[in-house]
Amino acid sequence: MTHTLSTRRYGRWLPAALVAAAMVSASAQTKIALDPNKYSVQDDVQLGREASVEAKKQLPMLNDARVDDYVEDIGDKLVAAIPAEFRHAGFEYTFDVVNQKEINAFALPGGPMFLNRGMIESAKTEGEMASVMAHEISHVALRHGTAQATKGQKFQIGAVAGQILGAIVGGAAGSVIAQGSQFGLGAYFMKYGREYERQADLLGSQIMARAGYNPREMASMFKTIAGEGGRSGPEWLSSHPDPGNRAAAIEKEASTLRVQGNANTGQFQSVKARLNGMSPAYTAEQIANGQARTTTRPVGTAERVVNVSAPSTRYRTYTPTNFLRISVPDNWEQLDTGDGVTYAPEGGFFEENGATAFTHGVQIGVAQGGSGNLQRDTEQLLQTFARGNPELRQAGNARRETIGGRTGLTIPLTNVSEVTGQQEAVYLSTAHLRDGSVLYLIGVTPRQEAATYDRAFRQVRQSMQIADR
Ligand SMILES: [Zn+2]
Repeated sequence: MTHTLSTRRYGRWLPAALVAAAMVSASAQTKIALDPNKYSVQDDVQLGREASVEAKKQLPMLNDARVDDYVEDIGDKLVAAIPAEFRHAGFEYTFDVVNQKEINAFALPGGPMFLNRGMIESAKTEGEMASVMAHEISHVALRHGTAQATKGQKFQIGAVAGQILGAIVGGAAGSVIAQGSQFGLGAYFMKYGREYERQADLLGSQIMARAGYNPREMASMFKTIAGEGGRSGPEWLSSHPDPGNRAAAIEKEASTLRVQGNANTGQFQSVKARLNGMSPAYTAEQIANGQARTTTRPVGTAERVVNVSAPSTRYRTYTPTNFLRISVPDNWEQLDTGDGVTYAPEGGFFEENGATAFTHGVQIGVAQGGSGNLQRDTEQLLQTFARGNPELRQAGNARRETIGGRTGLTIPLTNVSEVTGQQEAVYLSTAHLRDGSVLYLIGVTPRQEAATYDRAFRQVRQSMQIADR
């Protein structure tokens, strides 16, 4: 867009060679190139989607429509300003506010962004807040997470969801909280090196200018955050280290950019006042201690009527990961979801805003263990599930059962379906993998169909074969 303006301005009266020179000096914004990346764009999308589902379960989401709409509105404007060469098929930028006090924000590969309430509260202007978002968007658009993993080789991420889920769910489930809103994956996907910081500052500045925000507000936001100090201050700064002369470099880039219009909504102060009127945000410590809850449940998702045919008595065998085989009724489909792999009949599976839900079928995943005691690890896992499913209740004692040839546990539970608003029966089965992590299988069915599904679930559990080493 800047190029069009330059041509128009100089094109009429300057000789061609001078036109070219003038264009260069008029738009001397820094060129940024994508780093080598051995992962596919689809890998970014998938990784981000899976980690995002986990994040929403682990973190207390603010879920305030007014604040979320406001942040989304700004995010959308910034996304629309991403230069064409950094747009990737399938990337979906989403913006969610976490009801957390610490000044932090993170964006996952493929686009999901989480902004702490503390970050919004610390910003002095809408432009400062937008600058954090533009900076994070830039890391995503430049695919820095997987580019960094390409260099690092610390762990292998296969293209197959089944292989990724162990790494993601295992890593994220336990340590997201322990480290205070940093994912276990954080070292890879959310802490960047100096060169990537420099690039995100530059592209972020360009995106801001194109969207209608003054990129100098990014320089001032870094100062604002640094000035906060204290234990809630530097978290974002430590995962986005200063590449050197940060403010000066941003100012310099800003001087080459023309701010296109004025994107300011004029609503920043009223949004801040609204946040100010709410009960205090949770601290990382409270979240770690399980004291934080997502305040309001999303409305409008409940009370859908679902029509699903009964489980077939013929079974089909799948190998969702290299160490697992499982047979499920042959009218169930395999779906790779953020939580692992789900097998559900047609009509029994829902995807909305990146979140997934199913009313009939089974889901398999791997979660972090750690205690060495299956009962204790299972209880821990239950607590994790309960955070994302506030109506989840134990409906009977855990019973020992052989799962995949080893000692396992099955616990009957009840829940209220997010899809239908109706009671559902849930069965959680667990077994230890050799590395101490927990393989789990969740069976879900509406309560009135529990008798029909109980038999299918038992057969599925008995079909499991685990071959990890
Ligand atoms: Zn950064």
